[in-house]
Formats: sequence, C-alpha cells, structure tokens
Amino acid sequence: MANPLFDRIALIGIGLIGSSIARLAKRDGLVGHISVTARTQESLDKAMELGIADSVTLDQEAAVKDADLVIICSPLGAYSSIIETIAPGLKPGAIVSDVGSVKEAVVRDLAPHIPDGVHLIPAHPVAGTEHSGPEAGFPELFEDRWCILTPPADADEEATKALSAFWEAAGSNIEIMDPAHHDLVMAMTSHLPHLIAYTIVGTATDLEKTLRNEVIKFSAGGFRDFTRIAASDPTMWRDVFLKNKDAVLEMLQRFNEDITALQRAIRWEEGDTLFELFSRTREVRRGVIEAKQEKMYD
Ligand code: NAP
Repeated sequence: MANPLFDRIALIGIGLIGSSIARLAKRDGLVGHISVTARTQESLDKAMELGIADSVTLDQEAAVKDADLVIICSPLGAYSSIIETIAPGLKPGAIVSDVGSVKEAVVRDLAPHIPDGVHLIPAHPVAGTEHSGPEAGFPELFEDRWCILTPPADADEEATKALSAFWEAAGSNIEIMDPAHHDLVMAMTSHLPHLIAYTIVGTATDLEKTLRNEVIKFSAGGFRDFTRIAASDPTMWRDVFLKNKDAVLEMLQRFNEDITALQRAIRWEEGDTLFELFSRTREVRRGVIEAKQEKMYD
C-alpha cells in the first residue's frame, strides 16, 4: 500500500489477535510504525524476533505515545488498568479501539478515562482460534469475517470511517451495532457454545477412569469437536463470561428450557419432536455455509 492508513499504531497485547493484526499490517504496509506492549518481556522479545513490531516496551504509557490508533488486544479483565495507565500518554485526535469479545463492559470500563479529543471506537473482529500467544497469529485470520464496530452515538464520523477502512483492508466486512445488542448476539453464537463445550469436556473428565479413557479413545463421535473449543484460553473466556454475565445468563435460561423439552421428548419417545428439531438445525448449517462462515477457526 503506497499510503499507510495510519502513521503509527500501538498494540496493547500481542497474542493471537494482536499478532494477527501486526502480521497483516506489516504484510500489506497498512501502517508506518507498530509499537507493541504486553504483560511480559518474553512476549515482546518474541514479537521482535518474529519481525512483527517496530518498537516494544513494557511501559504502556510510552507505547501509546504519538500513536494515531491504539488497539487494546488483551483479555477484557485488564482493560481498566490499561486505560488508566495509557490515558495520560494518548495523543489528541488518536483513536482508541479494542478487539474484545464483549462490548457493553468495554464502554463502561474505557469511556470514563478517554481524554477530550481522543476517539473511542470499540470493535470486535469475529474471528479467532483456540490458540494463544504471539506465535499463534496469522495475517489471513480476519479475511471474509465480520468486524463489528460499536461507536458511541456521538462518535466522530471520520474516526469511525478510518477504523472501518483499517478492518476492510484486513479483509473483513464491517457491521455497526449497539453494544448491548452485540453482547446478546455473541452470547448465543459464541459464548453459550463455549460454555457448553467447557461443560461437556468437564463432565467427561469427571467420569471414572475407565470410562474417561474410552471417551478420549473414541472421541471422533462428536466429543473431539467440543475438545477443540474447550481448549480455548482460560483467562480470555473467564473474562468473557464475567463481563457478559447478563446476556449469557439470559441465553442459558432459554437453553435450559429447550434441553428440558428434549429430555422429555426422549423419555416419552416422541420421535417426531426430535426429528423435526434435527431437520430444522440441518437447515441452519446450510445457512452458515452459504454465509461463508464455516471456516474452522472462529
Ligand atoms: P492471547 O493470545 O492470550 O493474548 C493476550 C495478550 O494480552 C498477550 O500478549 C498478553 O501479554 C496481553 N496482556 C494480558 N494482560 C495484559 C495487561 N494487563 N496489560 C497489557 N497486556 C496484557 O489473547 P487473544 O486470543 O489474542 O485475545 C485478546 C482479546 O481478543 C480478548 O479480549 C478476546 O476477547 C478478543 N478476541 C479473541 C478471539 C479468539 O478467538 N481468541 C476472537 C475475537 C476476539 P503476555 O503475552 O505478555 O502475557
């Protein structure tokens, strides 16, 4: 790209998502300079070794100095302390964004600390894998995936456009949403499925030893797919459930009612009820494939 979209960006966190952003920004020349900060020196050293950072520092305030775009790519639980630390170093006119999987809590945690003249435009690239850390990233991660922006009602239009252009350059499709609506949608499409996977794999590990060994041995019968999801980062997912508590509990309530109905259908051998549901869900799978959302990583 002849003209970079941003002269200088700062990435706070260089795990799966941060390092994927850095890789694609380097590959396509989207930005002039990438400044990186993280929790540990080890990750910063790794970022330099991989050639995905131009400068690194553990000093978060120094990392955001002169940055036109700051993207917080850490677990959600770290946001409050990060914004308190970086706020004094933010350049007037800078955009502060993030990649967090929950959005209402982000606005709650970040907005009060954003200095006048700095634009908060939260974002969520709906793309990921079960892997973590600087080495897990890859530049194609966001291609053909949604990136949901949740700008506040009075957000600066130019800032929203500039951030949209960045994610479009990453290959993503942009959707603008209200943060509460985003959280409800994600509770169903992402958070509840993860909770179910964690539960099934947890139940299996609590079985007595012989049975547990056989669950692993014959895992191709469906269990294997749950183990992939349940291998996702424990810190990230702990924070997602704590920060999206209300929406997840609401979806969980509906899920519990539906599973009780299925339990009843099995007990009373109501085959038609089972068949009708399984036929409807098959159609949903077709819709997912048609919407090109069937990639293994998410
Ligand atoms: P990750 O691979 O575990 O990386 C997290 C990064 O955050 C690490 O570089 C870590 O530093 C850094 N970090 C942790 N605490 C910090 C702190 N207090 N200050 C500064 N940096 C800190 O996580 P990820 O998968 O990239 O996820 C990051 C964010 O993306 C999360 O908010 C998540 O909700 C969102 N997200 C994830 C996915 C997914 O599938 N993984 C998808 C969409 C959105 P160290 O390496 O030094 O510990």
